[in-house]
Amino acid sequence: MPPTDPTKRLADYEQRYRDLAAQLATIGLIHAGSLTRRYTRCATPGCKCHADPPQPHGPYYQWSAKVNGKTVTRRLSASEAELYEEWIANDRRLRDLIQQMRQIAAKATELKLKQAASP
Ligand SMILES: [Zn+2]
Repeated sequence: MPPTDPTKRLADYEQRYRDLAAQLATIGLIHAGSLTRRYTRCATPGCKCHADPPQPHGPYYQWSAKVNGKTVTRRLSASEAELYEEWIANDRRLRDLIQQMRQIAAKATELKLKQAASP
């Protein structure tokens, strides 16, 4: 249950906001875009990718992102893909934290405005 006293509620929001802001500082490098992992089948008859069960070629990693409205893609090695995976996850976490901060800030600023309006 959140406290009903507006001053306590505001203190609560401000504390949660500071906690989230502190978490921001711990986020490592970020990178835009997304990662896909693909397996393919070739046209060579008798290749293992057509066996039963099939053993497709790959995995092949690809990074893609929208840059100035255009989709840009890049082939990655497995080790590059590992780095990108971490950076992209950090980016998601960053956006998630900011989203939470926005929600708390919206409530806190509303309370502050009410406080400022009352004598
Ligand atoms: Zn094949």
